[in-house]
Amino acid sequence: MKRREVLTFVAVLLASAILAVLATLSLRQWEVSAERRLHEQARDMASMIAEKIETAVLKTEEEGLGSLRLTALDPHFTPEMVDAWKARTPFFDRVYLFDRHGKLFYPRRSNSSDAAMLAGLRAEISPGFWDRGGQRHIQLGDQVALVAVIQGSPQGPLLAVLHRSEQGLRRDILEKTLAGLEGQSLLAVLDGSDRPIYTARPLGRAQHVLTVDFGEALPAWRLALYEPAGLSPRDAVRRQAMLFTAVFILLLGVIAFGLAATYRLVRRESEMARLKSDFVANVSHDLKTPLALIRMFAETLEMDRVPDEVSRREYYGVITRESERLTRLIDNVLDFSRIEGGRQRYDMAPGHIEPIVHEVLEAFRYPLAQQGFKVDVHVEPDLPEVRLDPEAMKQALANLVDNAIKYSGEGRRLDVTARREGKDVCIAVSDDGIGIPTREQQRIFEKFYRIGRSETQGRRGSGVGLALVKHIVEAHGGRVTVESGPGAGSRFTLHVPLPGDV
Ligand code: ADP
Repeated sequence: MKRREVLTFVAVLLASAILAVLATLSLRQWEVSAERRLHEQARDMASMIAEKIETAVLKTEEEGLGSLRLTALDPHFTPEMVDAWKARTPFFDRVYLFDRHGKLFYPRRSNSSDAAMLAGLRAEISPGFWDRGGQRHIQLGDQVALVAVIQGSPQGPLLAVLHRSEQGLRRDILEKTLAGLEGQSLLAVLDGSDRPIYTARPLGRAQHVLTVDFGEALPAWRLALYEPAGLSPRDAVRRQAMLFTAVFILLLGVIAFGLAATYRLVRRESEMARLKSDFVANVSHDLKTPLALIRMFAETLEMDRVPDEVSRREYYGVITRESERLTRLIDNVLDFSRIEGGRQRYDMAPGHIEPIVHEVLEAFRYPLAQQGFKVDVHVEPDLPEVRLDPEAMKQALANLVDNAIKYSGEGRRLDVTARREGKDVCIAVSDDGIGIPTREQQRIFEKFYRIGRSETQGRRGSGVGLALVKHIVEAHGGRVTVESGPGAGSRFTLHVPLPGDV
C-alpha cells in the first residue's frame, strides 16, 4: 500500500479514537447532569404533593372548626352538642373546650394527664390571643393540635383544642390526595421516627429516592418518594448510558468494518492495477516473439538462403504456426475485451463435440510432435449433440491444450477425453505437468491472474486464458473444474449440459 493510503487509515483510526474519548467524557458529564435533573424533577413533584396534603389538612381543619364555631353560637350550647359535632367530624379524635379561667367545658370529665396538658397550654396562651380570637397549631408532646378561640358562645370565649385522629388523616386526606397521583413512583408519609404512616402500595424492594418536609400543619412528618427497583433516576440514567455505549460501540464497529472493507478494496485495486500492467507487458512480449520468428524466417526465405526443400517447407511451417499462435493470442485478447465490455455474443446451435476436439488437436499437432508429447485422445462414440458455439468451444479447448503444453514440465503427456457423464458431456484435458497448488485452483480463473512468478517464469501467457474458458463454458450453461496438485499434473474438465438441462 502507498504511504498516502496508510496515512489516511491512520488518520481515520486517530479520528475514531478521539471520537471515542470525547464520547466517553461527554457521556460521563451527561450522566451526572441527567441524574441531577431527574432528582430535581422528583423533588419538585414530592414538594408539590406535600403542599397539596398540607392544604387539604388545613382546609379540613378549617371546616371542622367552622362548624364547631356555629354550634357554639347556639344559645343553649351544651357538651352534648359537642358530642354530636364530634360524631359528625371524625377527623378530630380529641376535643377540649375551656374558658379563660381554665374551667373545662368539654369533656365534662378529664383525667389527670389531660389536666396537666391543659394547664401547660393555658400558660402558653397570651391574653392577646384570647382577645383577638386567635388560631394556631401547637405541639402537644409528639402530636400537633389546632388551638383556636371561639367567641360568642353563651359561656363566653372558649379555647378549643382540636386533636386530629391519625385514622381520619389517613382516610380523609392521604388516601384522597395520594390516590391516582403516583404513577410509577411510590409515596410514603413518614412520622417523626421515619415509620411509614401511609403508603398507597406496599414498598417492597422499592428504592428510596428523596424525602421532603411538610409545613407547620404536619411539622414532624415527612413525605418520602420511592421508585420501584430498576426505575430510580440512577438506574434510568445508567440504562441510557449503557444504550449509548452500545450504540457507540456499534458505530465504532461499523467504522472498523468500513476501514477493513476499504483496505481490502484498495489492496484488490492495487493488485488489479499490477496484474493489468503485467498483462500489457506479457501480451506485448507474446506478440513480439512470434512476429520476430515470422520475420526472421520470411527474410531468410526472401533472400533465398534456404539450403534445401525440406528446410524451406519447415520454414513455411514455422511461419504458419507462429501466425496461428498470433491469431489465437489476438482472438483471446479481443474476446476478453468484448466480454469485459459486455459485447460478447455466442451463436448457439446443436452440434457435436468430436469434430471440435479433432480440429483443435490438429492445430496443435506440430508443437505437440516437436516437443515429443505423447498424445492420447479418446472420444466416446455416439456422444449426443449439445447446444454450442463451435468457434467459442474451440477457443476454450485450445486454451486448455495450450496451457497443458506450456505447463507440461518434464512429463510430456496430453490426454484429451470426451464422454457423457450424467446430464453433461465432459471434455477433459489432462497433463503430467507442474500442477497447481489447491489454494490457487480458484484464483487461476480470475482475469489476469497467473501463479507465482517463479513457476510461470519463462512461460509466455497473458493470464486471461482460463478466465475466457470459464466465461465461454458458463455461457453454454456449463462449468469448468480442475483437479490438480503440485508436480502431479492437472486435469481441466469442461462440463457442457445436454439440451433440455440448461
Ligand atoms: P496464462 O496466459 O498465464 O497461461 P491462464 O489464464 O491460461 O493464463 O492460466 C492462469 C494460470 O494458471 C497460469 O499462469 C498457470 O500458472 C496456471 N495454469 C493453467 N493451466 C495450467 C496447467 N495445465 N498446469 C499448471 N498450471 C496451469
